[in-house]
Amino acid sequence: MTEIKDETVVNENGLNFIEQEIKADLENGKNGGRLNTRFPPEPNGYLHIGHAKAFIMDFGIAEKFGGTCNLRFDDTNPQKEDTEYVEAIKRDIKWLGFDWDNRLYYASDYFPQLFELAKRMIREGKAYVDEQTSEEIASQKGTPTEPGINSPFRDRPIEENLDLFERMNAGEFEEGTMVLRAKIDMSNSNMHFRDPIMYRIIKTPHWRTGDKWKVYPMYDFAHGQSDYFEGVTHSICTLEFVPHRPLYEYFVKELADDTYCPRQIEFNRLNLTYTVMSKRKLLQLVKEKLVNGWDDPRMPTLCGLRRRGYTPSAIKEFINKIGYTKYEALNHIELLEHSVREDLNKTATRVSAVQNPVKLILTNYPEDKTEMMEMDNNPEDLSEGTHQMPFTRELWIEREDFMENPPKKFFRMTPGKEVRLKGAYIVLCIGVTKDKDGNITEIQATYDPETRSGLPGADRKVKGTLHWVSVPTAVKAEVRDYDRLFAVENPSAEEGDFRDLLNPHSLIIRQNVMIEPWLAKRAKTGERYQFTRLGYYTVDPDSDSSRLIFNKTIGLKDTWAKEMKKSAK
Ligand code: ATP
Ligand code: MG
Repeated sequence: MTEIKDETVVNENGLNFIEQEIKADLENGKNGGRLNTRFPPEPNGYLHIGHAKAFIMDFGIAEKFGGTCNLRFDDTNPQKEDTEYVEAIKRDIKWLGFDWDNRLYYASDYFPQLFELAKRMIREGKAYVDEQTSEEIASQKGTPTEPGINSPFRDRPIEENLDLFERMNAGEFEEGTMVLRAKIDMSNSNMHFRDPIMYRIIKTPHWRTGDKWKVYPMYDFAHGQSDYFEGVTHSICTLEFVPHRPLYEYFVKELADDTYCPRQIEFNRLNLTYTVMSKRKLLQLVKEKLVNGWDDPRMPTLCGLRRRGYTPSAIKEFINKIGYTKYEALNHIELLEHSVREDLNKTATRVSAVQNPVKLILTNYPEDKTEMMEMDNNPEDLSEGTHQMPFTRELWIEREDFMENPPKKFFRMTPGKEVRLKGAYIVLCIGVTKDKDGNITEIQATYDPETRSGLPGADRKVKGTLHWVSVPTAVKAEVRDYDRLFAVENPSAEEGDFRDLLNPHSLIIRQNVMIEPWLAKRAKTGERYQFTRLGYYTVDPDSDSSRLIFNKTIGLKDTWAKEMKKSAK
């Protein structure tokens, strides 16, 4: 059973533990009272909502306490990185409303300083070139309870180390033949201190520095120093870096002094039910075309959520609700959806669309008549005004809204019963026509002219209200209906291939959705609407003048309360 927690832990002033730490540092005049954070994505994939949790903290806390936040691309591995990712990352951060101004940096800018520092450490007897294979090195690491074994190259003369390191960088040796290691302690209880690798040979050209470098620094040797070179005071990251912190401090001490020293603080990752956050897995889904690209609306990527119709404010509200803690958790996707629904309820324009249409004929309504019915654009916000919707003898209604032999509590259309057509009339169902296979092709009803919306007769009590679209003016649109990407709650916790856990029904394409003409005329890419009784929908960029495409953003029913009850049990 996975532990699911969605709670915010804040003190009496509403500050989470990171904010409390930073406030204290500022009050104590640490680093001259400066606050400078950074968001350090590796440009090897698109950002997902977990990254948003990280950069909302990095940029948000700087804003809150009058500091600054750098955007630094951690581009230390040329084998996996690409400018496509750099541009996408910038776009997504801006979408959530943050800006790094002129503070855009790259770890690769520091390659010269890092190389010099590595040579200095060699000269001081703190680093050596190891010629063993990575398997040999791994086999000597020991375990948390057993000490490791010293490399036979550990006590190589300094001059030899210097010479080999220079030649590694000159390209004289093949990838995997040697590494530069820090000479620390092979029996340290922290495994990261057992002579960690500082540099490896990579011959793939780097997208920024070309083939200038043949050795590339490892994360642990690059990150703290990059923070230092940039003047970062607080390096906020996720909990998996807790065991790296002593090493962060060890390397930073090679540079820092009492007047300025960056500090690492860790918080819990965002994990969401029914999806995965690993960039490696997301990349695999994209490459193997198991989804339609990084911005597939089923993906937890920011571009996917944007295409789906999620709003920046809903994402921020969700992150605010789950908060920042020091223990790992799995968050309910229903809470994210709840935030989206709350936001869209306030802002989305209401329109009519029938997703699974069947024809309703009002036998007593004149054939050539059209009335314009006035519809609220948003009953939650009457200042949004109204729009006109044509009403005619032939209407589309939802197939599911009719039943010939309904169960007891069915309050929609059925022979002999009245229902209200939203914003129009009360109608009485009088019959139904079927084809030879028994499929309903048409439903007949009569309308009561006294019950037009706004007239006193409209007050008559009827149980059901149905949405509808006039047949002669309806426009056909495509709707892409999404469900959970994965069929299981916590795919990362399952054994076996994660791809086998994908939900095979996560995308349903509806080609014949009938939408009202006002919507067809005005809809533009990225706009969000509420289709009455169906949910929230967002216009997809694949739309063109011949065909509108909508992504279902989220249904109307709030499943969050239900989830809460379930987990309270
Ligand atoms: P990898 O390092 O495996 O490529 P990553 O998701 O850690 O993947 P980075 O580009 O290193 O990717 O992440 C940038 C920042 O985002 C890091 O500081 C990391 O801690 C943070 N981050 C990544 N995933 C999450 C998550 N699920 N929740 C919160 N923060 C995250
Ligand atoms: Mg990372």
